[in-house]
Amino acid sequence: MLEHDVIIIGGGLAGCRAALEIKKQNSTLDVGLVAKTHPIRSHSVAAQGGIAASLQNVDPEDDWKAHAFDTVKGSDYLADQDAVEYLTKEAPEVIIELEHLGVLFSRLEDGRIAQRAFGGHSHKRTCYAADKTGHAMLHELFNNLRRNRVKIYEEWYVLQLILEENDLPESPLNLGENVIKEAKGVVMFNISDGRLEVVKAKAVMFATGGYGRVFNTTSNDYASTGDGLGMCAAAGLPLEDMEFVQFHPTGLFPVGVLISEAVRGEGAYLRNSDGERFMQRYAPNQMELAPRDITSRAIVLEIRAGRGIHADGSAGGAYVHLDLTHMGKEKIMSRVPFCWEEAYRLVGVDAVYQPMPVRPTAHYCMGGIPVNTDGRVRQNATQLTDGFFAAGECACVSVHGGNRLGSNSLLECVVYGRRVGRAIANYVVDRKMPNVDEQKYLQQAEKRINNLISQEGNLRINSLRQKFQDTMTEHCGVFRTEEVMIEGIAQIQQLKAKYSQIFLDDKDKDWNTELIEALELQNIMMVGEIILTSALQRQESRGAHSREDYPSRDDHNFLQHTLASYGADNIEVNYMPVVITMFEPKERKY
Ligand SMILES: Cc1cc2nc3c(=O)[nH]c(=O)nc-3n(C[C@H](O)[C@H](O)[C@H](O)COP(=O)(O)OP(=O)(O)OC[C@H]3O[C@@H](n4cnc5c(N)ncnc54)[C@H](O)[C@@H]3O)c2cc1C
Repeated sequence: MLEHDVIIIGGGLAGCRAALEIKKQNSTLDVGLVAKTHPIRSHSVAAQGGIAASLQNVDPEDDWKAHAFDTVKGSDYLADQDAVEYLTKEAPEVIIELEHLGVLFSRLEDGRIAQRAFGGHSHKRTCYAADKTGHAMLHELFNNLRRNRVKIYEEWYVLQLILEENDLPESPLNLGENVIKEAKGVVMFNISDGRLEVVKAKAVMFATGGYGRVFNTTSNDYASTGDGLGMCAAAGLPLEDMEFVQFHPTGLFPVGVLISEAVRGEGAYLRNSDGERFMQRYAPNQMELAPRDITSRAIVLEIRAGRGIHADGSAGGAYVHLDLTHMGKEKIMSRVPFCWEEAYRLVGVDAVYQPMPVRPTAHYCMGGIPVNTDGRVRQNATQLTDGFFAAGECACVSVHGGNRLGSNSLLECVVYGRRVGRAIANYVVDRKMPNVDEQKYLQQAEKRINNLISQEGNLRINSLRQKFQDTMTEHCGVFRTEEVMIEGIAQIQQLKAKYSQIFLDDKDKDWNTELIEALELQNIMMVGEIILTSALQRQESRGAHSREDYPSRDDHNFLQHTLASYGADNIEVNYMPVVITMFEPKERKY
C-alpha cells in the first residue's frame, strides 16, 4: 500500500498551489499529487481572461472592500462573507507571490502588472497574461512542485474516497449526534497499465475541478466530469448549492468553447438580429459588463423573442453576435489573440472584420463539496469530517454564492489553495497514519472494474451520456420551471437505470479509455441528479438559478445554502445559514 502524509487529488491550480504551500510550510512532509490527466493539462490551463485583485495599478480608487462588495452583490447575497473577506483581502498578496514564482503577467507601460475591466467588477482589477492567464500560472506552479519534490502520479484515475467512521471517537469535534467520519485515503487506477493501488494518508485533499460535461454544450474540457463531487456523494457526504450552474454568455456557436469575457472587458459589443446593443434593456449601466447570470438570461430572452440570428444574417436564429470590429486589429491581436484564433479556426470567422456567433454555454460550478474557510469538508451543517479537505472549483466555501464573477475563480484557487495548504500542514503534525484494510478496498475496486468490462448490454457509453447531457440541458438550463424539472428527474432516473446496459468494446485494462469514460459517466449521472433535485427544491430565483414559476428572490425562505446528499433511497435536501458580516442583502441592479 502506498502512503503519504498528504494525498492531493487534482493537478490544477488549486491542487498545485496547496501542494506547494504544504512544502513551503514544512519541507519534511511527504506530499503526493494525483491527476487523471497530466497536471498541466488540467482545465485550469485553459483559463483565459484573468485573475482579480485590487492592486490599484490602473484604478487607485479600488480596494479589497470594493472587491468584496462586488463579489457579494454578484453572488446575489448567497456568498459567505467571511470567506469573501479572505478572498479579496489576500488577493494582492497572492498575485505578487505568483509573480515571484515566475508567472509572466501582461504589463503597463511603466512595468507594473496591467489590469482590465471584467463583468460585475466596479473597478479595473483583473490581472492577465494576454488571454492565456491559466496557462502562464499553471506551468509555473507545476515547475515549482518539481523543485519542491512533490511526488506526482500523473494519469492515475481515482475511483473511490476511503471514508470510514473515526477511529478516535474522543476527538474534540465529535460533539454532535452523528458519528464523525474520517477520510483515510483513496483507491486509484493506473490508466496506462491498469494497476490498482490504495493510498493512505493523514490528510486527503480534493481539488478535482468542475462538472461542465454534465451538460451537452460546455466550455469545459473532456475531463471536467465532476468525479470528486460524485465520489463524495457516493460516500454519503452532502454537496452544497448544486443548483447554481454558471452558463457563460459567450460560448462560440455551435461548438460551445469559451470566448473569454476579456473580449467584452476590452470593449466588444453584444448585438441582436436588429444590430441593437440589447444589453441596454437589461443592464443600462453596466451594459455588456453586467454579471454573467444577467447577460446569459438576456441572450436567451433575445433568442426566444425571435431576435437571434441565422447563418445568412436573418432574424430568428439560435445565437447573437459578439462584435469586435470597432476595436481594431492591433488591440484584438495584442489583448485577446487566442479568442480571435478560436473563432477563426473553429467557425471560420475573422473577428477583425466580422462578428462572432455566440450563445450561453455551461461553464462553472458555483456549488460543490461544502468546506469551511480552512478547506475542512463538512459532514453536515454543524460537523466537519476528519482528515478531509477540498479547494478550487470542486469546493464550495462559498465565495461565489448564486453567481460567480469572472476572474474570481482563478483567485479562489490560489487564495484557498494556499490557505488550505497551510491548514493541512498544521493539521497533519499531530496526526497518526490511519489504518486501512487494503485488501478489502482492492477487491471491491477490482470487482467494480471487472463487472464493467464483462457487462453485456446493447448501449454505447456515448449514446447514454449524450442522452443524459441533453436531458440536463433541456430540463435544467438557464431558465427552469417545476414542471420541466420534474419531467427531467423522471427522465434521468430512466437513463440511470440503463447504465447496466452499456457495453465496452475494449476488454483490456491498459489504456482503456472506454473504461474511464464509463466510470466518469457514473459521476456525471450522480452530479446531474443532485443538481436537478436541489434546483427543484429552491422555489425562488437567485443568481444563476432562474425559476420562471418563482421569478423573485425570496430571502425569507431561501437565503440559505442547500445541502443535498444521497439518503437510503432518495436524495435528502437540507439547508444551512449564510454568513453575513459586512453587507446586508439588497436588490441587485446593474
Ligand atoms: C475555458 C475556460 C476559461 C476560464 N477562464 C477563467 C478566467 O479567465 N478567470 C477565472 O477566474 N476563471 C476562469 N475559468 C474557471 C477556472 O479556470 C477554473 O474554475 C479553475 O481553473 C479550476 O481549477 P481547479 O484546480 O479547481 O480544477 P482543474 O484545473 O479543473 O483541475 C482538476 C484536476 O483534477 C484532476 N482529477 C479530476 N478527477 C480526477 C480523478 N477521478 N482522478 C484523478 N484526478 C482527477 C484532473 O486531472 C485535474 O488535474 C475558466 C474556465 C474555463 C473552462
